[in-house]
Amino acid sequence: MENCIFCRIIKGEIPSAKVYEDEYVYAFKDINPATPVHVLVVPKMHISSLEGLNDENIENVVHIHRGIKKVADITGIKNEGYRVIVNCGESAGQTVFHLHYHVLGGTKLSEKII
Ligand code: 5GP
Ligand code: ZN
Repeated sequence: MENCIFCRIIKGEIPSAKVYEDEYVYAFKDINPATPVHVLVVPKMHISSLEGLNDENIENVVHIHRGIKKVADITGIKNEGYRVIVNCGESAGQTVFHLHYHVLGGTKLSEKII
């Protein structure tokens, strides 16, 4: 996926502020943070969106959730709490079509989701 910006970030072709990495996931600070802690957790495998998950790649969800917990620990928001958002498709505001989970925290978040 040579034109995918997140694939290029994972390969190191585009710089990013890495927070956590393992064999399956890469986590880095969002370039335009919405909250004091705003980290994107992405599978290293290119999957276009939540709708791109299937029986062959669904195990990435486990790795992503493990990565989210690592990110919450590393960034110090584990105990106070945090929100995880996945935008799926254009109506939801997905702009980068490589599956990514927003991990948001470091402040008191609105009780409303939208
Ligand atoms: P979406 O709207 O697709 O759910 O979220 C895409 C996110 O990726 C946005 O919050 C945007 O700020 C972030 N983003 C887009 N391009 C880059 C980039 O080159 N580097 C980083 N670190 N974040 C990016
Ligand atoms: Zn990609």
